[in-house]
Amino acid sequence: MNQYRNLINGEWVAGDHWRPNVSPSDSKDVIGEYADADALQTEIAAAAAREAFRSWSKSGPQERFELLDQTASIILSRKAELARLLSREEGKTLSEAAAEVQRAGQIFKFFAGEALRINGELLPSIRSGLTVEVTREPIGVVGLITPWNFPIAIPAWKIAPALAYGNCVVIKPAELVPGCAWELVKILSDAGAPPGVVNLLMGPGAAVGEALVRSSNVDAISFTGSAMTGQTVAEKCVSSGKKVQLEMGGKNPMVVLDDADMDVAVDVCINGSFYSTGQRCTASSRLIVGRGIHDLFVEAMHARMRLLKVGNPLDSQTQIGPVVDARQLAQDERYIRLAGREGGSVFGGARVDADTEGFFLAPALVTGTHPSMTINQEEVFGPVASVIQVNDYDEALAVANDTRFGLSAGICTTSLKYASHFKRNVEAGMVMINTPTAGVDYHVPFGGRKKSSYGAREQGSYAQEFFTTVKTAYIAAGVV
Ligand code: ADP
Repeated sequence: MNQYRNLINGEWVAGDHWRPNVSPSDSKDVIGEYADADALQTEIAAAAAREAFRSWSKSGPQERFELLDQTASIILSRKAELARLLSREEGKTLSEAAAEVQRAGQIFKFFAGEALRINGELLPSIRSGLTVEVTREPIGVVGLITPWNFPIAIPAWKIAPALAYGNCVVIKPAELVPGCAWELVKILSDAGAPPGVVNLLMGPGAAVGEALVRSSNVDAISFTGSAMTGQTVAEKCVSSGKKVQLEMGGKNPMVVLDDADMDVAVDVCINGSFYSTGQRCTASSRLIVGRGIHDLFVEAMHARMRLLKVGNPLDSQTQIGPVVDARQLAQDERYIRLAGREGGSVFGGARVDADTEGFFLAPALVTGTHPSMTINQEEVFGPVASVIQVNDYDEALAVANDTRFGLSAGICTTSLKYASHFKRNVEAGMVMINTPTAGVDYHVPFGGRKKSSYGAREQGSYAQEFFTTVKTAYIAAGVV
């Protein structure tokens, strides 16, 4: 059995015990044993990052470009192999995993370029003889806490901008998927990241994550995960004066108006609700459907759901891989049962037998639901969507906004009037017209409103808002 260590100050070190990384598709498929770090190692890693920051923050754009560009090239050259690892440890299909690896490579390419494009402003002062210069500087040591649902893309979209703008990082990936983060950090190390610039600490959130958030050597935390953990992380960061950025849950609506193209609407909803096993914070979990199209839409959804192939994600025929673990499977099933008890009609949602022992669940669609039902208020994070029937566009918009979350929102319509109005008035960070709520580009901002997000946006050049701090300099004439 291969054993994988943490990276602290350029050294690969063991932890206090080894955690097996078991595939959700096959309990006999153990990918490897990964070292669990502890609170003391977290402090050592944060101190090493603090020390490394002294020189990395002064590194030039060419050096940062080369590290990120080289990392990107290695990721892309190993796409098939990394996709297979991702698919084994997280459970998404091989094609979804390949797309995620590709995206991780593209993110590093993009931020390699961003390292060359860090700019500022030069303004005349309101006082004569003075010039004002506004520049961006790195914030210092950034703790990165990542979830299990995008094991390589989320670490990539936090590490790449952090390094591009001159920060050092300590990354703590989710316990369930240490494999992809380990490979990514190994690639960075092989590509020439100096000791201490990138540190990897695997292990449980309660030990390693908390220690990272508490450490006085950490200046900022970028977190993606559940709303509940995010809240406690934010409270601790605010009370210790750390900059913090949170990406959390969603309860993303997809409105289907009576004038929608039925084929487009069904494609968009099947993809948005069930692909990646519904385990995306941008998944469409509430389908808000006009009275005029409702019955035909539900019938078409049922027909398509019957054809979806759930199974081993390494099989090229599979469209929906397993749920990530037993705890998540139990949560999905609990929400499905509750939706039935609260008056919804459940289609699908049964366990699926396979050749291997895994957490296979058929997608579930709950119809006849009311906006106040639990299924429409709480995030399930599985292949489960509900349908809410509405009378008209105004009611659809009101229901779409009737949630404490605000990450992504979509509408299927052929009306420019409704599409435009929805785009302006839905309370979400991202809006999708005739395209699924999930599936975003890497060069534009990602993030939400309300309880979905907190702090500056991630991705694209907007990432600099979090990963840099601004300095305003006043220069008097006569300085030579
Ligand atoms: P999920 O329930 O989907 O696993 P979490 O929010 O618990 O979502 O986990 C997201 C990330 O946060 C993981 O890397 C996890 O280990 C980490 N984490 C969990 N609890 C804490 C905590 N108290 N402090 C810091 N990080 C934590």
